[in-house]
Amino acid sequence: MSRPVPNPGILDIAPYTPGKSPVAEPGRKVFKLSANETPFGPSPHAIAAYKSAADHLEDYPEGTSRVLREAIGRAYGLDPDRIICGAGSDEILNLLAHTYLGPDDEAISTTHGFLVYPIATLANGARNVVAEEKDLTCNVDAILAKVSPKTKIVWLANPNNPTGTYIPFDEVKRLRAGLPGHVVLVLDAAYADYVSRNDYEIGIELVATTDNTVMTHTFSKIHGLAALRIGWMFGPANIVDAVNRIRGPFNVSVPAQLAAVAAIQDSAHVEKSRTHTEAWRNKLTEELTKIGLTVTPSVCNFVLMHFPTTKGKTAAEADAFLTKRGLVLRALGNYNLPHALRMTIGTDEANELVIEGLREFMAQP
Ligand SMILES: *Cc1c(COP(=O)(O)O)cnc(C)c1O
Repeated sequence: MSRPVPNPGILDIAPYTPGKSPVAEPGRKVFKLSANETPFGPSPHAIAAYKSAADHLEDYPEGTSRVLREAIGRAYGLDPDRIICGAGSDEILNLLAHTYLGPDDEAISTTHGFLVYPIATLANGARNVVAEEKDLTCNVDAILAKVSPKTKIVWLANPNNPTGTYIPFDEVKRLRAGLPGHVVLVLDAAYADYVSRNDYEIGIELVATTDNTVMTHTFSKIHGLAALRIGWMFGPANIVDAVNRIRGPFNVSVPAQLAAVAAIQDSAHVEKSRTHTEAWRNKLTEELTKIGLTVTPSVCNFVLMHFPTTKGKTAAEADAFLTKRGLVLRALGNYNLPHALRMTIGTDEANELVIEGLREFMAQP
């Protein structure tokens, strides 16, 4: 009997394993520190704008997200015509893959690159080519060595999730300069707002001066609007034109557009989150190192910590130990980092509890 056969590549995608539903000991408060969500929630203005949309749910959205593109344009000094909004940056990344990848093509990502990249690549029948990282950091030479005539996209989260590392803008420019003109370089800036390094840049200059570089960004992280699914890209006219041809005409909902406009205008809310994150990133790195863990230097709103492989001290055991206390971190087996846990920086209370918990865990006989 015949039955439907999925397109080539689809069945090579590892089925998505959702985060576990944490069960803490009775009486423990649960802190979800596994999805890089902000402990501050969105701006109160964004919540108010979201609620105001409830009065007109019968109307379709304006199809191009014009009000949001204009607000993003004002915030970053960009031409709104070069911006596309999407249902999360996930949609934008998938639209880019669909626009430029097909069977026989190749797309390059790095060893511990964001998992959406290989999924978007395979979903379009293309081959996912992995470039080795160095010290859990993108290595430009390794990427350039993987380029072939079939390469169509290079995916680069800068900084990257789940490693928390970044490459300086000079290196990004060297990467662009070394890639053939027909290769789209996608710079995913989901965590850009948390970076406080002089040699980092989000990539606007590169997008504005080339016709093959795209920058993507999201409202899911520092703006705290992950539930509403809003992302965007800034790109050259030729790429914007091509992607817009396959974008669904009403892909961003009215409540999402209005909340995002209010969020991007609330710079005080963003600043509060940035300050809190930086202070705790430093403190967590210092305290966890003292306890005996290895912490990868992070520029994001999370830290990656590495555990010993000795029985009783492993990442899996630490994960179970913390979960009982209501502290839910992210295990990274599906990122091929079985000895590490990723912790999203949470409230003061949550962060203190993790330090205290891990100190006890590591001191156990
Ligand atoms: C969280 C994250 C995003 C944002 O995805 P959305 O679909 O916008 O929620 C994008 N890229 C990376 C690397 C991320 O970690």
